[in-house]
Amino acid sequence: MDDAAGRVALIAEARTHPRITLLEGWQAADLLDVGGKVIGALARDPAGRWHRLLAGATIIASGGAGALYGLTSNQPTALGEGVAMAYRAGAEVADIEFMQFHPTVYRTRAGYGFLITEAARGEGGILRTPGGERFMPAYDPRAELAPRDVVTRGIYAAMRRADSDHVLLDLTHMSRERIERHFPTICARLREDGLDPVTVPIPVAPASHYLMGGIRTALDGATSLPGLFAAGEVACTGVHGANRLASNSLLECLVFGRRAGFAATAQLDQRRRGNDESQIEPTAFERALRPAPLVLHQAWRTDLAATMVGAAGPLRDGAGLRAGLAELERWPLQAASDNAEGLTAANAALAARLIVAGALLREESRGGHFRTDFPQQREAWHAHSVQARGRQPFLVESVAPALSMAHAAD
Ligand SMILES: Cc1cc2nc3c(=O)[nH]c(=O)nc-3n(C[C@H](O)[C@H](O)[C@H](O)COP(=O)(O)OP(=O)(O)OC[C@H]3O[C@@H](n4cnc5c(N)ncnc54)[C@H](O)[C@@H]3O)c2cc1C
Repeated sequence: MDDAAGRVALIAEARTHPRITLLEGWQAADLLDVGGKVIGALARDPAGRWHRLLAGATIIASGGAGALYGLTSNQPTALGEGVAMAYRAGAEVADIEFMQFHPTVYRTRAGYGFLITEAARGEGGILRTPGGERFMPAYDPRAELAPRDVVTRGIYAAMRRADSDHVLLDLTHMSRERIERHFPTICARLREDGLDPVTVPIPVAPASHYLMGGIRTALDGATSLPGLFAAGEVACTGVHGANRLASNSLLECLVFGRRAGFAATAQLDQRRRGNDESQIEPTAFERALRPAPLVLHQAWRTDLAATMVGAAGPLRDGAGLRAGLAELERWPLQAASDNAEGLTAANAALAARLIVAGALLREESRGGHFRTDFPQQREAWHAHSVQARGRQPFLVESVAPALSMAHAAD
């Protein structure tokens, strides 16, 4: 079963399962807690009505944050909203500076990123400047076959030299039969845009692809907050280190999703079922909500992406990160509007701020995080970074939050 078929099968199963209620088109905006224990989420239905969804256990599975960067392989909803909600509720967030950039993403005519698999380089694809010159051998002896982060930086350097927003991935020296046999999906998608990779090199650029960091999570999905679990790309279990290997995020679904489900079930707080929600204090986020016109610039995604690419893209430095952080501090972190777009923007800006702050903190280069002012890996930073609301950032040897053991003992 391929990826898409698997997804369709899973959704079909969820839709028909008698004990699963899917709330499609709903938007989670904040977590609810009582005395430091998470007891559900504040969510908005498609008609704009607010609901407090009370739960004996809450699992966040809201995906990554690639869409903070504009050109991305991710869906536009991947804005790190789950990380923002968890952080606001007091959960620890780990290694959030580690964003993986995929070196070769094609920007479709509609403006979305379409990933051109690494197999295209594996099969002999050559990276060229917009002028047609091969550049990777001069950057790294492994040339086009160097690791993802190295090729990304090589492309970035070539783009800067050429003052271009792309380079070219050239397959045209291969036979039509070979290209079509190995890359049928790529051929079909590019031809929809009137571009035939058999005869024309593909314009590509590095794009945000996978967030290694996220909500600090033990191997059973437990976070540092009682009642809250996380699974999938939103979680940081530490298994991907600073640079996930291709295809390893299947772990998130098959292993950690399952574990989080079992752990949440085992620790279900039955008292929360049928609770009287009027007993719950409004969250700060909820108090800040007011039905007002959207105060953000309508092009907030573009503004946010420009800040993120400039400050915390594949090449980072202290000055750029400080400027990015100052810029992000001007963004409203509470919702200034109860309009869905305003809520998304507030959570996205908070997630962006955490990534930039984490990248500024880590004065070294490692995996997906590259600082031009600290280009080497440093032993002192051989640790996981943690950020939590109201506390100074700190380093830990193991991602698993200490509190998860306490949950287990409950
Ligand atoms: C193009 C591409 C190719 C990839 N190929 C591979 C591969 O070959 N092998 C591999 O292992 N991994 C691969 N990955 C990575 C992998 O697909 C992802 O890490 C994985 O799909 C993430 O799953 P998830 O369930 O955590 O999040 P998602 O699948 O992103 O699901 C998160 C869901 O939460 C929803 N959501 C977000 N915020 C809110 C909110 N505030 N309220 C309500 N809902 C919300 C989103 O709309 C979305 O439906 C690839 C990724 C991409 C982008």
